[in-house]
Amino acid sequence: MSEHDPSTDALSTDVLVIGGGMAGLAGALALRENGANVTLVERAPEFGEVGAGLQMAPNASRVLKRWGLLEKALEIGVQPKHLVFRDAVTGEELTRQSLGGEFEERYAAPYVVIHRSDLHRVLLEGCEAAGVKLVNDVMVESVETVNGRGVAHTAAGVDYEADVVIGADGLKSTLRPLVANDEPVPSAYVAYRGTVPITKNTPKADLEDVIVYLGPNCHLVQYPLRKGELLNTVAVFKSASFERGEEQYGGVDELEAAYKDCVPAVQDALKNLGTSMRWPMYDRDPIENWVAGRMVLMGDAAHPMLQYLAQGACQALEDAAVLQDVSNATVFAADGVNPEAWDDAIKEFNNVRAGRTARVQRTARIWGESWHVSGLARTLRNLLFKSRKDNDFRYNDWLYGQDADGVPAAHSSLADRISA
Ligand SMILES: Cc1cc2nc3c(=O)[nH]c(=O)nc-3n(C[C@H](O)[C@H](O)[C@H](O)COP(=O)(O)OP(=O)(O)OC[C@H]3O[C@@H](n4cnc5c(N)ncnc54)[C@H](O)[C@@H]3O)c2cc1C
Repeated sequence: MSEHDPSTDALSTDVLVIGGGMAGLAGALALRENGANVTLVERAPEFGEVGAGLQMAPNASRVLKRWGLLEKALEIGVQPKHLVFRDAVTGEELTRQSLGGEFEERYAAPYVVIHRSDLHRVLLEGCEAAGVKLVNDVMVESVETVNGRGVAHTAAGVDYEADVVIGADGLKSTLRPLVANDEPVPSAYVAYRGTVPITKNTPKADLEDVIVYLGPNCHLVQYPLRKGELLNTVAVFKSASFERGEEQYGGVDELEAAYKDCVPAVQDALKNLGTSMRWPMYDRDPIENWVAGRMVLMGDAAHPMLQYLAQGACQALEDAAVLQDVSNATVFAADGVNPEAWDDAIKEFNNVRAGRTARVQRTARIWGESWHVSGLARTLRNLLFKSRKDNDFRYNDWLYGQDADGVPAAHSSLADRISA
């Protein structure tokens, strides 16, 4: 628990996590599992998530399994049978990936779709049960390293001090300027999302799958949530007004115009969207260094990505698992806690993760471009997709796979490097 340090007048803890999104909660839980006293501070007055569904691929559900939280996620999520890609203009099926059987065996965990607020709650309850100290209404303004400890200065004037500070404060991170002089990169695309109850009138054909319709400058994703009670829809389209930097961008008229050439199934699905909110899509260019003194970034603060691979939160869970492993072998050694080892542990975490997440960030951009092409490029894309067989895992292994130690496939050297 946080204690008052009379010598500095700050609240003192082993680990301070800044940000209570998926990344912060996962990071806090991971380090609490190692035995650290963890305090997590969140600027919002309550913990929660806005938005609708989230796809959790096996590289992330494996991490929940490690913490004993997968069962809870499965109780409220859905295991879709297939991931299906269709052309949005013709409705033609382009390719499908079965997500049970061989897929689940190969990646040693299920593909799950879950309401964001449900996954957030599973992680929050995991933190509460493990004894993470969770504090709301704390706006961190800056972090510095003083005498080998991280010190976070807050808007309320209270300081927090810790052996290590984890910056999990999202896309518009306050802490990122400590390591990079960059800005979020707008993609010109805007998303609308929505969930509606599944009723007897809902077309039945697609209710067990994740369906992605690919169209020129637009796409639409649909899948069931909450044990099949809700239908989740996401529509993402290129917005000329967003691209021009207009304040009133991506209105409903632009949304409808973007899908005017799409099949009726897609046009009908637009009715399922909430229109009071829309999300502009941003990422950032990958950066190599996430460490400043005793502060390290994770999640979207470190590697925000476009959503096309459905991996932002999944990569945050991978971050947490790797942070748990590198610090377990060093800071939390069998003969006692060694805070000095945090310097090496966060650098090792950074080394292990930066290459992999940069690849996911870059691939997400290219993958998204391939979804939105028209003309000859669309014809070629469709031919390529249609030539793929269901049991062809070559496009999945690097992302969902792992080595024998449970390390993400692209970084199977982690175990070697820790034990070296
Ligand atoms: C349309 C869309 C669809 C997506 N679909 C998927 C998907 O299917 N699968 C997937 O894995 N990912 C998906 N993602 C990405 C995923 O949502 C994000 O990567 C993930 O939520 C990022 O979590 P985070 O905790 O890093 O950041 P955030 O969720 O942004 O959390 C940051 C937290 O820090 C707090 N905070 C910020 N600044 C401060 C401060 N100074 N002091 C204190 N607290 C602070 C914020 O209030 C917030 O709670 C999608 C994203 C979008 C936009």
